[in-house]
Amino acid sequence: MSNENKSRAAATVPIEGPGRRFGHIVLPWSRNESGWGSLRIPFAVISSGSQGPTVLLTGGNHGDEFEGPIVLSDLARSLEPSQVRGTVIIVPALNYPAVKAGQRLSPIDGGNMNRAFRGRRDGTITEQIAHFVEEEFVARADAVLDLHAGGRSMAFSPFAASHKLPDAAQTERAKQALLAFGAPIGLVLEELDNEGMLDTAVERRGKLFLSTELGGGGSTSPETLSIARRGVHNFLVHVGVIDGGIAAPPKPTRLMTNDAAGYIACEQAGLIEYLHDLGDAVRRGETIARIFDLDRLDGEPCEVVAPIDGTLLGRLHGGLAAVGDFLALIARDL
Ligand code: CA
Repeated sequence: MSNENKSRAAATVPIEGPGRRFGHIVLPWSRNESGWGSLRIPFAVISSGSQGPTVLLTGGNHGDEFEGPIVLSDLARSLEPSQVRGTVIIVPALNYPAVKAGQRLSPIDGGNMNRAFRGRRDGTITEQIAHFVEEEFVARADAVLDLHAGGRSMAFSPFAASHKLPDAAQTERAKQALLAFGAPIGLVLEELDNEGMLDTAVERRGKLFLSTELGGGGSTSPETLSIARRGVHNFLVHVGVIDGGIAAPPKPTRLMTNDAAGYIACEQAGLIEYLHDLGDAVRRGETIARIFDLDRLDGEPCEVVAPIDGTLLGRLHGGLAAVGDFLALIARDL
């Protein structure tokens, strides 16, 4: 690595070598409250030190999505080096300032971690975290699992997701990992906007990437946590970094796909009434939600119509919709 590209952040423990280490990513963070202060983001490495894949597990990429931080904090303590063949790097709270604030974006710089890759060594705090993660973790990893949920503003029927990629073999590899993960739904996803995502940073290097949307509303449930726990275990088994069997989900994964036509954005602000629950089948042309103008009682509510046949997998969480808000994700069986 050239010196110009060496991150300003540093790890407090070695990333390579056998054993289990709990450390921090440390970034200089000079501010009014602490002139010579730093930001310290916890991470763990569990390694056999021997041959085997390197796997990066991340949560808290967005700060209001908590399955990742909970499940990965648990795993960091419970996974023994003797169980591992290769290396597992765990960052439960990737955008640590955002997770600490319980907000999607960093309260320090407003940074969206999943739009900040590949990061900048001399950028904002969020860009500096992204830069370190890309140069030190993604560069070493063979496979990356990034656990997301809907956060405060969205709710999803829990799914794991791989991407439609230009490379057919890479797409297929991710699809196999998606099936191994064992979420109720496995979505082969077309992103709305993939620029700056950790996903893209990993896939650009030809590596295996998998993510999830495990519910939402800014909290967790026993169900979404159980999906995350099983999925993380299965992902580690699938990529060969731990031994053991794939833990079968209660029902086989329903494989689905979407494209740009399956996203609905809000065109009129107001009170939103959903006429369907997540997981419901919807028909093209069917009204799936109504939006009431808060400022007048005459006139009919605006109808939100399904553009395609499919299943409602995602929706706005909350009762008020603003113009441009994400309203619905509709996917179909693959
Ligand atoms: Ca997210």
